[in-house]
Amino acid sequence: MRLWPTTKTVSSNTGPFLLKKEHLPHTQKPPENKEVQEAREDAGKPLRCYQCLAVITTEKQAISVNGSHLHTFFNPAGIVFELRCFRKAPGCLVQGSPTSEFSWFSGHTWQYSLCNTCLTHLGWFFQSSSGSFHGLINNHLN
Ligand SMILES: [Zn+2]
Repeated sequence: MRLWPTTKTVSSNTGPFLLKKEHLPHTQKPPENKEVQEAREDAGKPLRCYQCLAVITTEKQAISVNGSHLHTFFNPAGIVFELRCFRKAPGCLVQGSPTSEFSWFSGHTWQYSLCNTCLTHLGWFFQSSSGSFHGLINNHLN
């Protein structure tokens, strides 16, 4: 006994080969990175790269890590950095392999956070088993 027809009939309305324009979420421009969209919608004061003025993150993404938003550190060369912690920094490009060497936040690995537009080094991306954040150099944000 035959349970289904051997020739499929494809409905002209719902056929998978008919891709209608209204089914495409983004027809005008390529889909945007979700985080870039979120940053645009979060309406916080934008914080920009001091070199090229691309938007890196916003005040709304500011978070406290170990009880403080602003952290002052010395690097191994004795240079002082003031870091501000941000939950997300959609304008950053994270580069390098995660390492825990000289990590300023114990239990975290770090990678470089560069400006996604001009590739200026703006800070570091810290990651632990409980989450991640960007530590961005205070005077590198405008
Ligand atoms: Zn830049």
